Amino acid sequence: MSIASRLDQVRERIARAAIRAQRDPAAITLVAVTKTHPPEVIAEAIAAGARDLGENRVQEAALKIPSLAAAYPDARWHLIGHLQRNKAKTAIELFDSIHSVDSLRLAETLNRLLQERAAGEGATRRLPVLLQVNVSGEASKEGFDLPGGIANRAGLEALLPEVERILALPRLEVRGLMTIAPIVADPEQARPVFRALRELRDELARRFPQAAWAELSMGMTDDFEAAIAEGATIVRVGRAIFGERVG
Ligand SMILES: *Cc1c(COP(=O)(O)O)cnc(C)c1O
Repeated sequence: MSIASRLDQVRERIARAAIRAQRDPAAITLVAVTKTHPPEVIAEAIAAGARDLGENRVQEAALKIPSLAAAYPDARWHLIGHLQRNKAKTAIELFDSIHSVDSLRLAETLNRLLQERAAGEGATRRLPVLLQVNVSGEASKEGFDLPGGIANRAGLEALLPEVERILALPRLEVRGLMTIAPIVADPEQARPVFRALRELRDELARRFPQAAWAELSMGMTDDFEAAIAEGATIVRVGRAIFGERVG
């Protein structure tokens, strides 16, 4: 099956899941996750209408994005994987949005680099970012730790001042939250994790109305329909579009 028809199928499944949840399908952005796939495959997806593309490693992205961005200037590039601070400078050159802001230190580094760049260019760009939160408690997951979600009062009290400091960084535009659910046999089992992220978003929106908090980036190939049922506004889908990863 071609990438174009797989992309159509995924869009169709997103639309059906949205309608089941009484949501507008147009309110859900599909990020096509292109990691491990070569530029010609990514170009095929863009030609088939994919506009939002996700990569998880800066080094790999640096080899692929510049030529694709030149050929397809309206494609938007999302960083969805953990970002080391020593790669933050490259990341802000490559990406339009970062879903994986997972510490105050990283946020401060990004803000400083954007400020330095703005000083050189006279630009006033704010970088759209999401805060990645580990609400499942899985030890292997990156993100601000909040196992159990907002029911974890001590965890929430520790998180709030960090969020407040990030919101004060002038070069970052916090748009919402991102999470990765544990791998489970039945995607329905991931729903409590997605629900926990939504509840946290609602709590943060109540406490910090200075940010919009519109976005919930959650759901991948195996669980994006469950994520949409719980309010995902961005789903990050790789294998359902491109097949198994190469290498
Ligand atoms: C790889 C990846 C995805 C896509 O996963 P699939 O299972 O291929 O859909 C989504 N989010 C993140 C953070 C990823 O690293």
